[in-house]
Amino acid sequence: MAPLLAPLDQHNSTLVRNVHPVDWRPPTAAARYNLVVIGAGTAGLVTAAGGAGLGARVALVERDFLGGDCLNVGCVPSKCIIRSSRVFGEVGSAAALGVHVPPGVEADFGAVMERMRRLRARISDHDSVERFTRLGVDVFLGSARFVGPDAVEVDGTRLRFSKAVIATGTRAACPAIPGLAEAGFLTNETVFGLTERPRRLAVIGGGPIGCELAQAFRRLGSEVVLFHSGPHLLNREDPDAAGIVQQAFLREGVHLRAFAQKDPLVEYRGEGHVMFEELAQTIRTEVVFTLFHVTVELEEPGLEPMQAHDGALHYEHETSAGADVIAAAGGTATALATAPSGNGGSFAQAPAVN
Ligand SMILES: Cc1cc2nc3c(=O)[nH]c(=O)nc-3n(C[C@H](O)[C@H](O)[C@H](O)COP(=O)(O)OP(=O)(O)OC[C@H]3O[C@@H](n4cnc5c(N)ncnc54)[C@H](O)[C@@H]3O)c2cc1C
Repeated sequence: MAPLLAPLDQHNSTLVRNVHPVDWRPPTAAARYNLVVIGAGTAGLVTAAGGAGLGARVALVERDFLGGDCLNVGCVPSKCIIRSSRVFGEVGSAAALGVHVPPGVEADFGAVMERMRRLRARISDHDSVERFTRLGVDVFLGSARFVGPDAVEVDGTRLRFSKAVIATGTRAACPAIPGLAEAGFLTNETVFGLTERPRRLAVIGGGPIGCELAQAFRRLGSEVVLFHSGPHLLNREDPDAAGIVQQAFLREGVHLRAFAQKDPLVEYRGEGHVMFEELAQTIRTEVVFTLFHVTVELEEPGLEPMQAHDGALHYEHETSAGADVIAAAGGTATALATAPSGNGGSFAQAPAVN
């Protein structure tokens, strides 16, 4: 059963109809597939479409929503919100450009989120079960697990394969911050379901996603405090570039708190209030957002590899040819550092049609 994307309005209903139609009847499984792809996020969709385009017999298995994080709870919704928030960035510098904007301009948060849901639903046709079926891919909705060296099972249906690609992505996990699990927090899976603007938002983790959401919510009117550990925001970027972002945040009123030495202690104080005691400070917030810690999505029984090395996942079932049979792609590959993101696609597509 697919989780509901809140709120279940007409836009999200259209989205679900496209990417996880509840009345979907799975096709009769082929005797053997050239390629079985597990996970229909960006990596899985590209792999499946590419394989089918080369003439391979392809099965694509998705547990939740086709489109994965990117369409449903990642790139697409975040960029929609950023687009709206950018208007406020412009308003902030309008006077310097000779444009007088009267004070008191406010964002209609509900309308911003509604626009996001509308656009997401509109483009979801591209990642839909129907479109992939038209491309010649057999789409199965359910959780896949390996049941043999050349077979996965989805809701009792066995799919035999010559090659398999695991494109199950990653998922937010609770960081080891005392009190946070009890307090409750948002992740990318829930933040885009908000319909009311949080008055105060604490963002834990100053990576690209933490930064973009901190700035967007600040511009849309929330009071935002961003907690970050490390020498500077955006740890992987050049310090000078990160410094420009940091200056913009200070100008725009995003409160930065570094906790290089010490995790912020989190305490739930009832009625939606969470207290952070970080160094000597206490900060009140209603909502906490974090993607600070993610885990690779191989949690289904039968999907956990024995080991990951030499650019491949190694399974209990694997034959001596196993390393050439099963590959990881997209976020799974990046997280396991087995192969460059997207590599699974080319791995699978070329030999699959031989
Ligand atoms: C807020 C946010 C903003 C982002 N913005 C950008 C951006 O602007 N640009 C960019 O390039 N990237 C961005 N990203 C990152 C991007 O979303 C990911 O890199 C991309 O979604 C990874 O794709 P994937 O296919 O590897 O995994 P996913 O998209 O996670 O897809 C994996 C799929 O596998 C399914 N699955 C898991 N287990 C099973 C199973 N056992 N059986 C069947 N199916 C299963 C899951 O349900 C999921 O649909 C953003 C991410 C977030 C969270």
